[in-house]
Amino acid sequence: MARISVSSPADFHVHLRQGKMAALVAPHVRQGGFALAYVMPNLKPPITTTAQALAYKQDLEAIDPTVEYLMTLYLSPDLTPDEIVKAKAAGIVGVKSYPRGVTTNSDGGIESYEMYYPVFEAMQRVDMVLNLHGEVPSDPTTNTHILNAEPQFLPHLHSLHKAFPRLRIVLEHATTRAAVDAVKACGPTVACTITAHHLALTVDDWAGQSFNFCKPVAKFPDDREALREVIREAHPRFFLGSDSAPHPVHSKSTSTPTQGCAAGIYTSPILLPLVAHLLESFGALDKLDGFASAFGRRFYHRDLNAEQKENKVVLQKIGNHVVAGKIRRRR
Ligand SMILES: [Zn+2]
Repeated sequence: MARISVSSPADFHVHLRQGKMAALVAPHVRQGGFALAYVMPNLKPPITTTAQALAYKQDLEAIDPTVEYLMTLYLSPDLTPDEIVKAKAAGIVGVKSYPRGVTTNSDGGIESYEMYYPVFEAMQRVDMVLNLHGEVPSDPTTNTHILNAEPQFLPHLHSLHKAFPRLRIVLEHATTRAAVDAVKACGPTVACTITAHHLALTVDDWAGQSFNFCKPVAKFPDDREALREVIREAHPRFFLGSDSAPHPVHSKSTSTPTQGCAAGIYTSPILLPLVAHLLESFGALDKLDGFASAFGRRFYHRDLNAEQKENKVVLQKIGNHVVAGKIRRRR
């Protein structure tokens, strides 16, 4: 197949940063072929209020008004049920939970989700989405480390789903067969994003290669195969969230004995062609429209109208084009 089209591609997990970095990277959403960006709230300071989220949205729209930005709040002890109601009324779509945020102010780490139950109750009532970074913090006393942090999180997903069966939950950037199975076992209110890089990489690719290092880390070949399988079967609750996360080159490449490299893989500028290339490599190119647009939009109640459906991005295969290894700085 030399040409394939996707209706209004949507990236349901992306980091657009702030300030100069945002000005540089936000236009790459459109450049990468995407019309919608689900924007993560982990800025400095994190986006914890409706007012901050709306101001951030304005900043992004000033940089590139052609993309639809869906905004999120950062789950923290300051977030109240009243703020949830306010956020929903202002058009904010979701709340993101990070493991570190969860362990703050709690001895038992992730178990402290219960302290957020009033917030989740409000989210369920007003129909906001809970986005989970599904890893528990590393802990040598329980043999918890970066390779099993995701499977060990899954009981929390199940208990949250059981406690709030109508709350829409997205397990973000799944990397394991266990996570795929866990999401499948849940009801229609639980979905899962998959990144492009986790469809490509395994442990061997990031051990010793800092540019392939991200959290959650890419796992074993069989885990990667599970991600590919669920796309091949066109499961409607599994869709693209790139987790594209830019860092300055020096923070990726110059680790020292006392300073590790930054976690994050940056795919935005080439995202749609990259995803098409990967899907083609494992026999799922015909599932591209579902994976990169329709399924996520359906879960987030962002179905396209007839006019938007016509707004297609066409990918054309051309031979012998090599992506530049280094992007020159514009003066
Ligand atoms: Zn992320």
